[in-house]
Amino acid sequence: MPESPYQRVILKLSGESFAPPGQRGISMEEVVHISQQTIRAAALGVEIGIVIGGGNILRGAQFTAGKTGIQEATGHYMGMLATVINGLALQDALESLGAQTRLMTAIKMDGVAEPYIRRRAKRHLEKGRIVIFAAGTGAPFVTTDTAAAQKALELDCDILMKATRVDGVYNDDPEKNPHAVLYERLTYQQVREKELRVMDSTAIAHCMEHDLPILVFNYRQDGNIERAVRGETLGTQVSSAAAAATS
Ligand code: UDP
Repeated sequence: MPESPYQRVILKLSGESFAPPGQRGISMEEVVHISQQTIRAAALGVEIGIVIGGGNILRGAQFTAGKTGIQEATGHYMGMLATVINGLALQDALESLGAQTRLMTAIKMDGVAEPYIRRRAKRHLEKGRIVIFAAGTGAPFVTTDTAAAQKALELDCDILMKATRVDGVYNDDPEKNPHAVLYERLTYQQVREKELRVMDSTAIAHCMEHDLPILVFNYRQDGNIERAVRGETLGTQVSSAAAAATS
């Protein structure tokens, strides 16, 4: 029996997964920990592309809120560059553990990383390299969630796995409300109607339009990336009404 129902997945790691809980910046201890989990998941024979966020360093919308003197678009470009810093850290952590990797950026950066070229990215994945996608979509006013949805679609991935610091999607903020209830399954429509904070709205729209399943799960629990890739039941699954009803 295959060890995973998936051939190729996109793993969306938020920048906060690189910082100790409640802190900002990069802790290589955290990066190595998440890299170990990712390598164990890749060992199941699944091709893994990682879209890395930058929120541990800077998010454009937050940074430019109020009168900071920085234009919002500039803030978003700063956020995209933050993801490249994280991408470099992740690449070295993965390689220090023996993984074959490539770092590709949506904003061209000669001397730092390869430019993102879809066919080349596919070849890297086919060869079993863990490919890190940084600089988001290369365009401002969206987040790396949208980049993850786009990469999952253009690279023919089976699923978008969004790693978060809570167990999945709840009806309220579980970090503030201890009675918040976890949804095990949701349709894209329910996510929109209930205005659940799964991913940014552009990302949800892409997934819904192309019927790309999303799994939201907790990266903090050791072994969860591997469990997610094995197709085990965990977190919250978001899919079309038909898929949600039959699964
Ligand atoms: N960003 C952007 N375009 C993109 C991806 C990201 O402008 O395609 C900017 C945006 O300001 C975002 C920041 O980069 O807030 C960092 O990404 P994100 O907030 O997604 O990081 P995460 O929350 O996943 O750590």
